Amino acid sequence: MEETGTVEAAIPRQRDHRRRLVVVGNGMAGIRAVEELLERGGAEQFDITVFGDEPYGNYNRILLSHVLSGEETEEGIFLNSLSWYEENSIDLRAGVRVDRVDRFAKVVHDADGGQTPYDTLLLATGSTPFFPSMDGLHLDGVFTFRTLDDARSLLASARTHRRAVVIGGGLLGLEAAHGLATHGLQVDLVHSPQHLMNQQLGPEAGRVLRRKIEELGIRVHTGVRTRALLGTDRVSGVELPDGTVLEADFVVIAAGIRPNVDVALRSGLAVERGVVVDDRLRTSHPDVYAVGECVQHRGQTYGLVAPLWDQAGVLADHLTGTRPDAQYHGTRTSTKLKVAGVDVVAMGLPGPERDDDEFVVFSEPHRGVYLNVVVRDGRLVGATLLGDVRKTAFLTQAFDQALPLPEERMSLLFDLGAPDEATSVAELSDDVQVCNCNGVTKGKIVDAVAGGCTSLTAVMGKTKAAKGCGSCKSLVEQITEWAAGGELTVDESVNWYVPGVPLAKPELMAAIRERGLKSVSAVFRELAPGGVEDAKSKMGLTSLLRMMWPEGIEEERDGRYINDRVHANIQRDGTFSVVPQMKGGVTTPEQLRKIADVADKYDVGMVKVTGGQRIDLLGVAKEDLPKVWKDLGMPSGYAYGKSFRTVKTCVGSDFCRFGLDDSTQLGIDLETRYQGIETPAKLKLGVVGCPRNCAEAYVKDIGVVAVGAGKWEVYVGGAAGATVRKGDLLATVGSAQEVLTLTGRFIQFYREWGNWLERTYEFVPRLGIERVRNVLVDDSDGLAAGLDERVQATVDNYRDPWLEGAEPVTTGQFRPALPLGMPVVRS
Ligand SMILES: Cc1cc2nc3c(=O)[nH]c(=O)nc-3n(C[C@H](O)[C@H](O)[C@H](O)COP(=O)(O)OP(=O)(O)OC[C@H]3O[C@@H](n4cnc5c(N)ncnc54)[C@H](O)[C@@H]3O)c2cc1C
Ligand code: SF4
Ligand code: SF4
Repeated sequence: MEETGTVEAAIPRQRDHRRRLVVVGNGMAGIRAVEELLERGGAEQFDITVFGDEPYGNYNRILLSHVLSGEETEEGIFLNSLSWYEENSIDLRAGVRVDRVDRFAKVVHDADGGQTPYDTLLLATGSTPFFPSMDGLHLDGVFTFRTLDDARSLLASARTHRRAVVIGGGLLGLEAAHGLATHGLQVDLVHSPQHLMNQQLGPEAGRVLRRKIEELGIRVHTGVRTRALLGTDRVSGVELPDGTVLEADFVVIAAGIRPNVDVALRSGLAVERGVVVDDRLRTSHPDVYAVGECVQHRGQTYGLVAPLWDQAGVLADHLTGTRPDAQYHGTRTSTKLKVAGVDVVAMGLPGPERDDDEFVVFSEPHRGVYLNVVVRDGRLVGATLLGDVRKTAFLTQAFDQALPLPEERMSLLFDLGAPDEATSVAELSDDVQVCNCNGVTKGKIVDAVAGGCTSLTAVMGKTKAAKGCGSCKSLVEQITEWAAGGELTVDESVNWYVPGVPLAKPELMAAIRERGLKSVSAVFRELAPGGVEDAKSKMGLTSLLRMMWPEGIEEERDGRYINDRVHANIQRDGTFSVVPQMKGGVTTPEQLRKIADVADKYDVGMVKVTGGQRIDLLGVAKEDLPKVWKDLGMPSGYAYGKSFRTVKTCVGSDFCRFGLDDSTQLGIDLETRYQGIETPAKLKLGVVGCPRNCAEAYVKDIGVVAVGAGKWEVYVGGAAGATVRKGDLLATVGSAQEVLTLTGRFIQFYREWGNWLERTYEFVPRLGIERVRNVLVDDSDGLAAGLDERVQATVDNYRDPWLEGAEPVTTGQFRPALPLGMPVVRS
């Protein structure tokens, strides 16, 4: 190895016999290549160093869309923790950017001034967002959507702003728009081509998708270029060519990506649209390889994960010598996606290109379904499935393997007695990729079954298949079933009420009642396998026991969340917030004076009106809680528990000129009657005096709306948090008393049949509003009287938890709390 004198002095000596592999890019392709290498015994052959300019471990970039929409946490998207790198003796340089490579000295220069020698170098630098040329791109409030930091910035902006414009109507733009809309923002989406996702879809499919997107409340502008971003320091709007201005508090540019070729260019490698590689993924320099979105192979660049799984496999075969002649011949990308909640599968041509291409189309825009296939010379050369993806398995296989097709072409789209699901699953070859998010092939699923996984959950746990966007779940299930020879076992644990006790809720309740179990430890002792206690099950069991025994249970303090132990809401710095009760949101000057005095006396960090119309005193130390409650002299306001919280009201007929009935009084009555009742998850209510809905009753767990002539509509299953859902109309009743009864009946029904932590917006759709109505209104199952009785017993046993301030239940109940840090993603 020829090295210059200066470089030699700076380079540490090679540590052992292994070749030094340096990877630039800690993203999906780079780490997949490393994983494949390790699987082939690469740890014996390579001493591996990975550079990543993001200060984190390795995460699944696809799932950033889920982080933005709130369906997934940051922690949930990490593929490899830092300990994984340590366990595999990989030297991770997280947060360190590589500037250039000296190909002759075989040294990588990083932005921190470090120099790292290599024998083999792998570039996996991914892509960078493409910025269409326009004025105003430098303004504050202009974001891209590529990294975890981008997702964090977008989330922060979504929380504090109202209007967003997304530029770009491809996969990324749609995901960004959907994510922002779920936070309740008004979103405009501007796309210069004539239809959405024009890269993958034809015009008609694009139109069907547009309808679905518009149903989400997103305003779509296609065939329109943006002229400029407006604003002085911060962006305030987007100007279109006809002079229209779309107002915006912030803008997301998602107009495409470009291979990130910076390092390759600076290092003198051959670069066209991407870093040019051959069939062995070698760049123009023999010791330098490249994989992922940064590469150009046979003139083609890629923007999806499927090709990079293939590339990583070939590279690992080649580098480890497992299959020295392995070659990459490109990937026929069939895209399986869930865009803004809509299933989309697209492969090959979106429509016919030649006169003799056969084209079979089925379109049902109203239902959001569009299906087509393009057949050329008896072979499938294109297919689009939107909204109904049941034929994915067969079509993927026909496309990938150019299989002969049934004469009756319609059977490609519908089951007309032609290849059923099982046959088509059997014919799929082992290396067909089933789950794109996590790069799982049919072969891996079959191996998992052969290795003893016989339930879908077990296979998903073992392979990670369908644990991403989930659009492949039915296919994963079909393959699992087929591989298990139809002997698929259902994973019973999905039906258990809590993980530590193998019983579904009704059986668990029956066993508890039968044996008279009144403490969490007694439940474990009697019903858990081997009597083993399970920490994750304790909170759910406490809630269940308290529901079943309204007159009281044997309390065990570790069976409750910290909020329930001290009856206040814990904040990020370890202090608590106190929300005095204000039934129906109504207060008095005297109460306000008292609250102000307490706020002064205890020097609370902030006094804030909550989203539920209550006053929140934030920043109270744990040990001060009893004193604060005593000085306030008011009962608990329930801002903290998995319980009935508050009833938001409008002023109704008392003061409002539109008011049809006394919503304030009904709100107070509801709150008085059902205060503090424990429920599977928090329960928020609203009552309004007319359908103008000033207190947002339509999006509450239970919402009540006056409709005149003494009548009230009762809605259930609404939500306006991370999920937004309008409640379903349960019934229209003729008096406030009937509202009280029906509400109580619904609450008890939810308590008895809802899963632990299942909000009503999940519970009601799970059962279906018709079923809920049948049981509660028509009393189809004869349950109504019992429900009324049991909720009454709970009401009768109500006790204000703040009384514990005077008589603590345990000595440590109000001892100082340790400050809590925010959960951080480790770097
Ligand atoms: C929001 C979103 C949703 C997506 N959804 C889908 C989907 O549903 N289906 C699908 O198939 N694909 C999807 N994709 C695309 C998919 O994420 C990419 O195809 C894949 O991540 C590409 O992998 P890669 O390793 O080539 O690049 P990346 O994952 O981007 O990794 C490259 C890494 O290299 C680092 N890097 C770059 N230059 C340097 C340097 N000089 N020094 C050090 N580090 C450097 C970058 O910071 C980055 O971390 C989505 C992408 C996004 C952003
Ligand atoms: S195909 Fe998707 S893209 Fe997807 S669940 Fe599997 S995890 Fe994914
Ligand atoms: S919901 Fe109707 S009654 Fe209530 S404040 Fe609004 S307009 Fe008035």
